[in-house]
Amino acid sequence: MSHIFRVALDTPVRRLFDYLAPLQATAQPAPGVRVRVPFGRQRRVGVITEVAQDSEVPPARLKPILQVLDATPVLDASLQELLRWAADYYHHPLGEVLASALPRALRLGAPESAREERWLVTAAGMAAVAAGEPRRAAKQRALLAFLREQREAGAAALAERFGNWRAAARALTARGWIASVEVELERPPAPATALRTPGPTLLPEQSEAVAAILAARERFGAFLLHGITGSGKTEVYLRVIEQVLRAGRRALVLVPEIGLTPQLLERFHERFEVPLALLHSGLTDQERLGAWRDAFSGRARIVLGTRSAVFAPLADLGVIVVDEEHDASFKQHEGGFRYSARDLAVMRARHAAVPVVLGSATPALETLHNVLNGRYARLTLARRAAQAQPPTLKLIDLRSHAVRGGLATPAVLAMERHLAQAGQVLVFLNRRGYAPTLLCTACGWLAPCRECDARLTVHLAAGRLRCHHCGADLPLPPRCPQCGFAVKPVGQGTERVEETLGTLFPSAPIARLDRDVVRRPQDATGVMRRMASGEARILVGTQMVTKGHDFPNVTLVVVLNADQGLFSTDFRAPERLAQTIVQVAGRAGRGSRAGEVLIQTEFPDHPLLTHLLAEGYEGFARAALEERAQAAWPPFSRLAALRDSARTAEAALAFLTEARTLARHPPSGVRLLGPVPAAMHRRAGRYHAQLLIESRERRALHEFLDGWLPEVEQLKSSRAVRWSLDVDPIELY
Ligand code: ADP
Ligand code: ZN
Ligand code: ZN
Repeated sequence: MSHIFRVALDTPVRRLFDYLAPLQATAQPAPGVRVRVPFGRQRRVGVITEVAQDSEVPPARLKPILQVLDATPVLDASLQELLRWAADYYHHPLGEVLASALPRALRLGAPESAREERWLVTAAGMAAVAAGEPRRAAKQRALLAFLREQREAGAAALAERFGNWRAAARALTARGWIASVEVELERPPAPATALRTPGPTLLPEQSEAVAAILAARERFGAFLLHGITGSGKTEVYLRVIEQVLRAGRRALVLVPEIGLTPQLLERFHERFEVPLALLHSGLTDQERLGAWRDAFSGRARIVLGTRSAVFAPLADLGVIVVDEEHDASFKQHEGGFRYSARDLAVMRARHAAVPVVLGSATPALETLHNVLNGRYARLTLARRAAQAQPPTLKLIDLRSHAVRGGLATPAVLAMERHLAQAGQVLVFLNRRGYAPTLLCTACGWLAPCRECDARLTVHLAAGRLRCHHCGADLPLPPRCPQCGFAVKPVGQGTERVEETLGTLFPSAPIARLDRDVVRRPQDATGVMRRMASGEARILVGTQMVTKGHDFPNVTLVVVLNADQGLFSTDFRAPERLAQTIVQVAGRAGRGSRAGEVLIQTEFPDHPLLTHLLAEGYEGFARAALEERAQAAWPPFSRLAALRDSARTAEAALAFLTEARTLARHPPSGVRLLGPVPAAMHRRAGRYHAQLLIESRERRALHEFLDGWLPEVEQLKSSRAVRWSLDVDPIELY
């Protein structure tokens, strides 16, 4: 009986496809190896997941594999196991899950290691040269002579010498005089550890943390490294990684956004003289392939990357670090396969029997819950490492002060004071653009987006009106298109705050950091350099300013408006707001001087703010977890969201309603909530809706989904909508 090869293909279909052994088989391809197979009328690249004895498909209808692409699996056994687990847990087709773990170039069939095309002269070619051939074609003649002289040459060398040489090479190949081979590019092996600098003497808390993590070196252990910004978490990562490298193993480090953390990258480079593979979304396909190959071949000793780097191939993994583990960007919330890289990192560490370190100043409530129930160990760094004082936080009641351009008088006075004392000031506002609304004062027109239930944002410098939800981009109208009267921007965005500050403090140079200024990762570097050098005195920015930068001379942080997150329908909004405030506050006073943080609000008595101010993030988290427990929200229950969008509101609701009807008798403990239209019902011309599935028990939820989803997929109404399932959703409608 010949073997059957079960192949996962990158399709949304929830099944694997069986193939016969390739006709010119040399060795049996193993699971984890890529193959090219016929698929309908196409050829596709897939990954072997299993070698079986028989198939449900009659043998006569099975087709052989066309080509085996890898000699060794591109996904090793432990990655295969992790991906299979992920496909189960997120209820997503295995083919798409495996595909998401491979760079695009590999999905299209590129070789797994860098190869070079080399050309040489055949025996027949030697004889031909001896006989004075070729007589006429000058280029062929020169090429042949060159190759004979060099014995062999790479394609790059030939291009350099002859320019366009392919046609000549083809002619010579056709006569059998020259031939090409593909050889693996040899790269010098990297030293296991090469320390450039030893790093500072660790503080007692840091030493304890390093020791605790290293004690779990040969087994699984999950650690929350909880410490405010500047408490020395990165130093702990570096020391643990140093020991891991010394043991001849490798480290995987996940960060939310690489463009925003050049300082972290710099610290790795300063500390270690070992090849580091960088994997992030700003890479071209070729760069990503190169980084993946460095990881796969084992050349890279450290892999540093964003979300999808959790799937990077790494032999001899020794530790996984997830920095800023609370960050929402670790959750993939677009497309089909919606995974949490943080949660998968923990699972990967478990499979690989290595420690995983989750670092944060503001841990996710889920993570804190895991600490409280004993699953994760907490390591605390309570003080700032470099003798800096924690900042003091104060609220400014927007109702009882004069406000100009979004700035209350006490905030302006504080800025004056800090600037006069040579401090730098950071102003945070989570809204880019000039103003969130354009208003006609005569007829009340509010510049709505035609495709969304949202208003267009004014971008004054660019002279545009833009929708931040669908990307619509229109010229800024000089007058009201409805009545022809004058229009005026209402409210504050970072662009406008920059303008206001310019008039208030004409002698203080201002820098801005938001998605409009930073279009590519390297754009952030210039802004940060201006701040670091002290050339800029004030930094205005969105969420971006809360991440990673260390500006030791910032002594004052002003949060312009804390209120956006206070009254959201999403039960996670308070957590996000508290994290943002604490993170942005952490930017103050990182040098030797104590920092001051002012938070403007219209609700100074709101419990979230009062808890946060009185007891810090810890106090907030305790109160928030209690609330979640009472309402039975995660982490005290498990959630999945079935979401869809359609051209009409009716179609969007119809599918979810039918899906709900299929589950008329859900198992006990499983509840279906909805369907409900999304808070922003229409977005980019489509209507969005959501059906929540909630369960006390994780297992009950997954058993339910296992039975229900295949039926949901069969629904006729599913064809009229785009739908997806989000397990452990972090943003709710
Ligand atoms: P975090 O990652 O928690 O923000 P870092 O590791 O970046 O903290 O440390 C903050 C600052 O303190 C950095 O400038 C770092 O070089 C310094 N630092 C960290 N640990 C020590 C130490 N043990 N002794 C002296 N300086 C330290
Ligand atoms: Zn008008
Ligand atoms: Zn829009």
